Amino acid sequence: MAIQPIRLFGDPVLRTPAEPVKDFDKELRKLVKDLTDTMMDAPGAGLAAPQIGVGLRVFTYYVDDQLGHLINPDLNLSDECDEEGEEGCLSFPGLSFPTPRAIRAVATGFDMHGEPVTLEGTDLMARCFQHETDHLDGVLFIDRMDAAQRKLAMKAIREAPWSGLSAPAFKFSPHPTQGKAL
Ligand SMILES: [Zn+2]
Repeated sequence: MAIQPIRLFGDPVLRTPAEPVKDFDKELRKLVKDLTDTMMDAPGAGLAAPQIGVGLRVFTYYVDDQLGHLINPDLNLSDECDEEGEEGCLSFPGLSFPTPRAIRAVATGFDMHGEPVTLEGTDLMARCFQHETDHLDGVLFIDRMDAAQRKLAMKAIREAPWSGLSAPAFKFSPHPTQGKAL
């Protein structure tokens, strides 16, 4: 097992586009294993390499008892959308929000041995492919929400116990202020 710490919203690595994988080597296979172990431990339905601080275009998924990974993914999406489906993210622990996504996705890419792969997903699987591929572009699910939903989400995020965005608590000065608090 090689469980890695999951980076939380606010970490700049989550906003940095990841680089395509060029070398399908031992190191890449270790990355896929780390992602898989970390995702299963969380547990989560998907995990992208930037979420463990690695800037490579790799994600893992575990949806409907199907475990897999995809490298250098490319997506082809249906026009039909699910506007209401709830979505969460391991980088936003404990929170989920309705996030619009295409209902069907065909994901092409490679496995860890460099073999071409085509994956087809509907509903949750399609949602997962879109969410994880977004991570590889530095895009987060809050970016996919409309303005009103994003406002609600940001409020919940600021109030979340893990959030570094919340305003600091009041701190009283240890020095006397002579009644002139500035
Ligand atoms: Zn996520």
